[in-house]
Amino acid sequence: MTGSNSGVPENGAAADRDLPADRAFACADCGRRWYYDRRRCPDCDRSAADAASVRLETGAVVATTTVETTPPDVRAPNHLALVRFDEVRLIAQAAAADLSPGDRVRFDGSHRLRDGPDRTDPRLVAAEES
Ligand SMILES: [Zn+2]
Repeated sequence: MTGSNSGVPENGAAADRDLPADRAFACADCGRRWYYDRRRCPDCDRSAADAASVRLETGAVVATTTVETTPPDVRAPNHLALVRFDEVRLIAQAAAADLSPGDRVRFDGSHRLRDGPDRTDPRLVAAEES
């Protein structure tokens, strides 16, 4: 699917909105939250261009994995976790290999995903019980 003749960007206006790793989109109408950029709210169909961004606080680890063979500019081993922040589910880098399913986590720190770009994002760390 190229869409090269349509003159319409493949992902619409919201594709330009690259949020930090610890933020999710929130629908301007119904409040539904999602993590990966999309064109419309999955519940009410409102344009995602109007969506706000909200900070993800504390989530629960669903699963973890470690990628040993990574692209040249990505750390190896690369520890990843599938995490549920209420209705928002995402896969993100974990700071270390110490997370397990059921652990409570939050985003913390400032790390570079790849060499080159100056952009940094937080990684998942265990959340202190309070
Ligand atoms: Zn909505």
